[in-house]
Formats: sequence, C-alpha cells, structure tokens
Amino acid sequence: MNKFDYMQKYGYEQVIYMHDRYSGLKGIICIHNTTLGPALGGTRVWEYETEEDAVYDVMRLARGMTKKAACAGLNLGGGKAVIIGNSKQLRKDTVRREAFWRAFGRYVESLGGRYITAEDVGTTPDDMSLVRMETDHVLGLPTTSGDPSPFTAYGVYKGIKACLKETMGSSKLEGVRIAISGVGHVGAALCDLLHEEGAILTIADIDEESVKRVQEKTGATIVSPQAIYDVDCDVFSPCALGAVINDDTLGRLKAKIIAGAANNVLSDSAIHGTKLHEMGLIYAPDYVINAGGLINVYQEKIGYNKEASMRAIDQIYDRVREIIVESKTTNTPTYLVADCMAERRIEMMRNINSIHIPNE
Ligand code: NAD
Repeated sequence: MNKFDYMQKYGYEQVIYMHDRYSGLKGIICIHNTTLGPALGGTRVWEYETEEDAVYDVMRLARGMTKKAACAGLNLGGGKAVIIGNSKQLRKDTVRREAFWRAFGRYVESLGGRYITAEDVGTTPDDMSLVRMETDHVLGLPTTSGDPSPFTAYGVYKGIKACLKETMGSSKLEGVRIAISGVGHVGAALCDLLHEEGAILTIADIDEESVKRVQEKTGATIVSPQAIYDVDCDVFSPCALGAVINDDTLGRLKAKIIAGAANNVLSDSAIHGTKLHEMGLIYAPDYVINAGGLINVYQEKIGYNKEASMRAIDQIYDRVREIIVESKTTNTPTYLVADCMAERRIEMMRNINSIHIPNE
C-alpha cells in the first residue's frame, strides 16, 4: 500500500528517515499518535531483508506503542525507531559505535521531545547512554531505571497468571507446561520467574548459548525454533519477534493460552485474532501483557520509584482478566476488546484538551 494511504488508514503523524554516511546509521523513526503525550518507544536494531520490511515493522510497532500506553493508563503517545544493521557487529568497533548512537541521538533531539527513545531488541542501556550524550529524550539508562526487560518479564508473568485464573480457575504455576519461543532479555527473565513457581518449561531460540544458559538455570527442555509451535503445553509464550501467530502456526498450537512479550504477535490481527477466539484459545493482547517495561521507564518521567513501578505493573493482572471477561461476555476476540479499551482512553483524553485554559 502507498505510504500516505497507510498513514491515513491508521492515523500516523510522522515518519522520519535517518542516514549518517560516516557511522553507517540507517534507520527510521515513526511517530504514530501523540494525543496522550510524547511518543515513546524503543529502538530496534535488526538486519531487515528489505527497506520495505523495516518501514512496515516500525509503523506497526509504533501503532502498538500508542495502544500500549493508552491501555496502561500512561500519558504517552506511540512511536518507535528501527535501525537497519547488525547489533553484534556494531559493538565490535567502539569508535564507530559511539558515533552511530550519537548520530541517532541527534536525530531524536531534532524532534524536540515529540519522540522519546529507549531500548528494544538489539539495543542495551549502554547504547542509550551514548544516545543521552546528544539528547535528553531517552529513557532506560543504566543510571536511572535501567534495562526494562525484567519489568516486562514480570508483567508477562502476571499476565500469564491472569490467563490461568480465567481458564483453569487458579493462577498457580506449579506443574503448568509453558513453551517459550525466544529466551533473550525478556524471555530468560520470564523463565526464571516461571521456574521459581514450579512451571515446566520448554524453550527455543536461534541463539544456542541463550537456550543453554536458561536450561542450566531452569532445567527447561530445549527444542528447535520451528518445533516450539508443536509442543504439547498449556501456555505458548512468544518472546522473540512478531507475526508468529500466522496461517502456518495457528493449526499447530496445542496450548489453550497464548501470552508472551513479543510485539505484534498476530500476523494479521483481524484474521488470526478472530480465529484464535473461534478456536476457544485465550490470547492475552501483546501490548497489554508486555507493558511492564514501558510502565517502568515512564516512572523516570514522573520521578523514578521502583515500588510505585512494580505496583503499576501488578495491575497487568487485573487488566488481562478484565479483557478476558469482557471477551467472554460479549463474545468478542480479546484483541478487539483491548483495541476498544485503548481507543476509548485516547478519545476521552483528546476531548479534555478542548477545555480552554487561559495562558496555557
Ligand atoms: P532480545 O533481542 O533480548 O531477545 C529476543 C530473542 O529472540 C533473542 O535471544 C533471539 O535470538 C531470539 N530469536 C530471534 N528470532 C527467533 C526465532 N525465529 N525463534 C526463536 N527465537 C528467536 O529481545 P527482548 O528485549 O527479550 O524482546 C523480546 C520481544 O519482546 C521483542 O518482540 C520485543 O519487541 C518485545 N518486548 C520487549 C520489551 C523489553 O522490555 N525488552 C518490552 C516490550 C516488548
């Protein structure tokens, strides 16, 4: 689809291309919606096969961030940055790495606070410290709230418990069989939390070292990244990349619950979200269950307090339950219930801005 048609259809505000010939920075920032506040969303570094893939990814991710902030009750809009490249290669050359992230920081700064960045796949709090040399509009620094991943993992853990409560009548994890695809920053932290409460884990990752590390700590069974979809389990937890619930995988899943950290889990929400509902599977909408990291970095904007942050993340449990109950009572797929929840808050808050305040 033509880019402006796509922007019109889904209400995007701005797409910015970045290029720095010296450091090799090549990427895109997308601001989806700033009704609730500045657009906040992490920076992803990934080797996209085509530029089109990168544009499509950043736009979908930015839209997800708008919904994520709205559902979590945060005064933030949705945005995202993707950088085309290999994060491991980038870390090998310290001079280039500094120039790369500082160049990115200057692009962020040029947006005057309309976009605030943080970590995502392929980036670290240390990368964000380099970005911070050029802009204040970056969160998740080692000196403040740090890596958001453990907080995201904690929110996903609470969300899985909410799904179990609604389907099995108990939120206990003892003996529950959980298949996790992707044991990176979030997936590995999630495995720790699930293992501590007695869940039986099966894991997969394209990175052999990552799966081995998690296996040593939790005794998880390792399967190949493709075989994870066929595992006989109670919960399937996608914690790698998006679009993993698609025409190929849908019929293979044995789990009754799909609840994980990955953004844009459904390849096509309307098709696959509806099919999951018709099949009687419980899908915890990704942007609701994976909001823990965003909730935590948001605390930096209002004065960081870890306890307050954990209390806010705890609410993911109630939010996921509320969505499942609404889905059952109205016979509506969970993804649609969550979309309506997000849209309702954005519309309500848009209207309060129509009240004139003198000298504002
Ligand atoms: P990460 O890069 O640390 O981990 C991702 C892991 O997935 C890596 O270990 C990678 O090897 C693995 N992987 C990639 N392709 C795979 C495949 N085909 N099959 C199996 N494994 C594969 O990233 P992360 O920070 O743990 O984030 C994981 C997901 O959660 C991403 O979709 C991210 O957007 C989402 N998310 C992360 C956060 C956060 O706080 N980090 C917050 C919200 C959402």
